[in-house]
Amino acid sequence: MNDATGTPIPVGISSCLLGEAVRYDGGHKRNDHLRETLGRYCDLQPFCPEVAAGLGVPRPAVRLVQTHTGVRALGVQNPSLDVTARLQATAEAQRRWHESLCGYVLKKDSPSCGMARVRRYHPDREQPERDGVGLYAERLMANFPLLPVEEEGRLTNPMLLANFMRRVHVLWRWRQATAGGLSRRVLTEFHARHKLILMSHHQDAARALGRLAAAEGAIEALADAYIRGVMDALKSPATRGNHVNVLQHIQGYLKRDLASDDKAELSDVIRRYHAGELPLIVPVTLLQHHFRKAPDPFIANSWYLYPYPGELAACLCAAGPEN
Ligand code: SF4
Repeated sequence: MNDATGTPIPVGISSCLLGEAVRYDGGHKRNDHLRETLGRYCDLQPFCPEVAAGLGVPRPAVRLVQTHTGVRALGVQNPSLDVTARLQATAEAQRRWHESLCGYVLKKDSPSCGMARVRRYHPDREQPERDGVGLYAERLMANFPLLPVEEEGRLTNPMLLANFMRRVHVLWRWRQATAGGLSRRVLTEFHARHKLILMSHHQDAARALGRLAAAEGAIEALADAYIRGVMDALKSPATRGNHVNVLQHIQGYLKRDLASDDKAELSDVIRRYHAGELPLIVPVTLLQHHFRKAPDPFIANSWYLYPYPGELAACLCAAGPEN
């Protein structure tokens, strides 16, 4: 993923997923799908918290264990080996790097990197619960709740991949928009450019965020609430019905410029997209064609019709409602 200036968008990733031999047994878990999708469009920055914590390769395997002092990462063979504090300290030591990222892809099931459903063992029970969170991942997500974070397994789902890429791009644009400082103008312009994207994900949230962007009050507090609301709204998958509403909304900007046969063709293409007969790219391309002849400043500025290549590629490869 690149921004308009060609700068790659930084995304953290568990090192073993890029094929680095950093696992406890000296192996890796290279994920070619991620390299071919995310890797084509963004700067994947690998990190292994267990290696950074000084545990070495190979090293004793650890697992999450419920103790009277909370969940800890203990050795599988030797439970007196406790690396909890080292993993948490490693996450804290990477705060500056984490702050520079626009997304993070984590290895599933890991007691360090897993973002959910990691095995949590209990001394009195034979079977573990599948409700743990890797200790490094837990700190990462607690420190940076806005950061889009996903597990590699979930990103084989095209809808989830598209949703992740969208969130990465939006956070990246927020960082760029606010790099020169916050102002009411920055906030309202950002919202104007993202309103249609937000509508495709969550119509009520899009309206509420529009009111927030225009509200009176301290700009820092407003901006904080606004971007939290944006990143939260984008977690809802875009739906076909919401896309149809957005496409019809955009169509309204052409009502004085289209001949009746062009209007009928556009309405038919949107109808066929709604019915699942056409992918989203067809009405989007037709709208782009019409706006080349009849430009509109609001539409030209919107990221909905003119996304970055990586964002577009994700949406196009997604099957189902996100498409
Ligand atoms: S700690 Fe994370 S990056 Fe390192 S090997 Fe385990 S899952 Fe991979």
